[in-house]
Amino acid sequence: AEPYNHSTALQPVHNNNDTHFSHGRRANATFVFLCRNSDLNGVVSSIVSMEDRFNRAYSYPWVFLNDEEFTEEFKQRVRVLTDAPMSFGVIPREHWVQPDWIDENRARQGRMKLMNQRVIYGGSIPYRNMCRFNSGFFFQHELLQPYRYYWRVEPNVKFFCGLDYDPFLYMEEHDKVYSFTISLLEHQPTVPTLWDSVKEFISEYPYFIEPENAMNFISDDGGEKYNLCHWWSNFEIADMDFWRGEAYTKFFEFLEAKGGFYYERWGDAPVHSIAAALFARKDQIHFFRDIGYRHEDFQHCPSGIQWSAGRCACDPKDTFDYSQASCLPRFEGLFQ
Ligand code: GDP
Ligand code: MN
Repeated sequence: AEPYNHSTALQPVHNNNDTHFSHGRRANATFVFLCRNSDLNGVVSSIVSMEDRFNRAYSYPWVFLNDEEFTEEFKQRVRVLTDAPMSFGVIPREHWVQPDWIDENRARQGRMKLMNQRVIYGGSIPYRNMCRFNSGFFFQHELLQPYRYYWRVEPNVKFFCGLDYDPFLYMEEHDKVYSFTISLLEHQPTVPTLWDSVKEFISEYPYFIEPENAMNFISDDGGEKYNLCHWWSNFEIADMDFWRGEAYTKFFEFLEAKGGFYYERWGDAPVHSIAAALFARKDQIHFFRDIGYRHEDFQHCPSGIQWSAGRCACDPKDTFDYSQASCLPRFEGLFQ
């Protein structure tokens, strides 16, 4: 019998000459997927969701990053899912592990304290490595150097809606630097001194603060206190040149020197959010209302015309937008 020919079988879906799938101009962009070999099944599930609902028509590349080598099995099982280019990278050790200058006794006390308070990942060192890497290092990885925009994807997430436009190009054409689908409140015990550091940074580097900033998203009193609002960073479409720029580079170095990624449990979500809110114009931050997205335990589901036009596979009543712990009203308040 004829051997099954994969390249022929897949052609109709990936044929860019087919008018249905032809979209012309593309952005300089990639998906970024930080994960472990053990995340494999959840990784496969997220890729399938993204490919089926969006990337089938665009073939944007995928970059997978890991603190150790991906196994052959891992690469095989993700490569089989799409013809989009894929690359697999190892993170340099110094971008991942707890630095030597961190006082391990103090770090351990910080972990114990959060564990005793039953804070999620309170006692975890790898989780802290991950948060620090996503805050300050992923965009420096060799495999991401060719790209400007990225879409962050995590294991076991769902993309509910079809998209008939390219969100990367949307970012580029509308001068956006950061975007989100869900915003919520951070666990206070993970960031007790983060805002003190931010205030210190602002007084030391006032010229980095954008006059048209989104301070009112992250503070209810003009910058005195942090209100714990942040954009949920497991979904991000953003501009890496913003993270690579002078303001954010200085900001990350400043936070890094405080040791809060290890002494406390500073998340990349509040760190990214605070930076985007202060160093970008508020109109450079975008809510992708039409992108249906789920990461346990929350989801954003579009409604009305966006829900039907997107053929969204989610219950429009099940959306985090205006629930108690959502910060979306504060974001919308910036433009009223
Ligand atoms: P949560 O969403 O805050 O519950 O955290 P996750 O467990 O989903 O981790 C966030 C992202 O970092 C996911 O894409 C994980 O696959 C990845 N990640 C977390 N810890 C590690 C780790 O120790 N090594 C690697 N390579 N990836 C990790
Ligand atoms: Mn996750």
